[in-house]
Amino acid sequence: LPVLAIVGRPNVGKSTLVNRILGRREAVTEDKPGVTRDRVSYPAEWAGRQFTLVDTGGWEVDVAGIEARVAEQAEVAIALSDAVVFVVDATVGPTATDERVVRLLRKSGKPVVLCANKVDGARGESDATELWSLGLGEPHPVSALHGRGTGDLLDAAMKALPLVSEHAVVLPSGPRRVALVGRPNVGKSSLLNKVAGSDRVVVDSVAGTTRDPVDELVLLKGIPWWFVDTAGIRRRVHQTKGADFYASLRTQAAIEKAEIAVVLVDASVPLTEQDTRVISQVVDAGRALVIAYNKWDLMDEDRRPFLEREIEQDLVQVQWAPRVNVSARTGWHTDRLVPALERSLESWDKRIPTGRLNAFLGELVAAHPHPLRGGKQPRILFATQASTRPPRFVIFATGFLEAGYRRFIERRLRETFGFDGTPIEISVRVRE
Ligand code: GDP
Repeated sequence: LPVLAIVGRPNVGKSTLVNRILGRREAVTEDKPGVTRDRVSYPAEWAGRQFTLVDTGGWEVDVAGIEARVAEQAEVAIALSDAVVFVVDATVGPTATDERVVRLLRKSGKPVVLCANKVDGARGESDATELWSLGLGEPHPVSALHGRGTGDLLDAAMKALPLVSEHAVVLPSGPRRVALVGRPNVGKSSLLNKVAGSDRVVVDSVAGTTRDPVDELVLLKGIPWWFVDTAGIRRRVHQTKGADFYASLRTQAAIEKAEIAVVLVDASVPLTEQDTRVISQVVDAGRALVIAYNKWDLMDEDRRPFLEREIEQDLVQVQWAPRVNVSARTGWHTDRLVPALERSLESWDKRIPTGRLNAFLGELVAAHPHPLRGGKQPRILFATQASTRPPRFVIFATGFLEAGYRRFIERRLRETFGFDGTPIEISVRVRE
């Protein structure tokens, strides 16, 4: 669906407008810095057209002195939308921050509809007229609070919004969350700096926000991602007693907060137990996974066969994880990271319809029945995918299925449906 973003400074009334557009009856959320909202995009409809509404209010953490971030966050919102409703407070008139956002809007080339909000009385109309000076065309006078003018605004927005989104990735609930993890010195902060460059938005800690001070919104090829707990990456680990324990807790917390983890390992030295432990943490948490082999520029050809063997032996449990070889120092192949992230997340989100799943299992079981156990053979009755993120399957059978047979089913599920980059859970319920 095409994406319409509502952009503007804090306090101009974005959330009120969003609530109007969504037709929500509940108490209007105050457009106040630090207001917690857990979603940034919503399915919306106007005049029979469906679109995705992106509400940037929820990302907004504005404290004194970081007005500049408003523009940076607007940039991210603009990048992920097909058209923008730019909201200005008509009672205040254009501010310097508004003008900065206008420059970003122009640069983006995206269609913009100008909303002059808080036009509640007769005087407001003349306030709105003043906004012609922004050079964004006709200001649409609106009172989001009372609902006045929103219909005309939406009509204009629908005209501006293309019928088909240019965005391959429609974000179901805002940018996806990535944890960059791995033992100290594998190159986490180097890699983050390399891929993020200057396209990043640091979200400060303000009471009442859902975001930690340590998450960063990073634009990778125009698509925003949250990199969680990046302060943990930056912080130099003091080699004191217990430091390992805290590092590992922090890793665990970052993984829990993320949807996908990139586990960074040092390709130039033998794989350590700490590396495999971090990988297990990701799998056990049910998160999508990408393994990145860093410091490839230091790779010695002599080490190559050892590395291959490590992958076959020590990483046998995660053969399904995409591996990318990179050098954070030179930037070599770091552009392969995003496609790997996308591939893993697609698997993590994937749902197999019940009909297809049972057809697949029926054929599989007919060709490879469960081995006889004590003269009896458990029969599979029915299966369903109970959840996504990660994919969880429940198989109903007349008896317990052996671990080896469950692994066999998992392998075939992966081959047939493509679950690269995600752990899969299979549980069996016995029905007589
Ligand atoms: P972190 O503790 O995982 O964040 O690791 P850093 O990013 O601080 O990197 C640790 C050291 O490894 C630094 O001296 C980096 O310059 C170096 N380093 C990181 N990535 C690479 C790489 O791809 N190649 C080489 N040769 N050195 C790297």
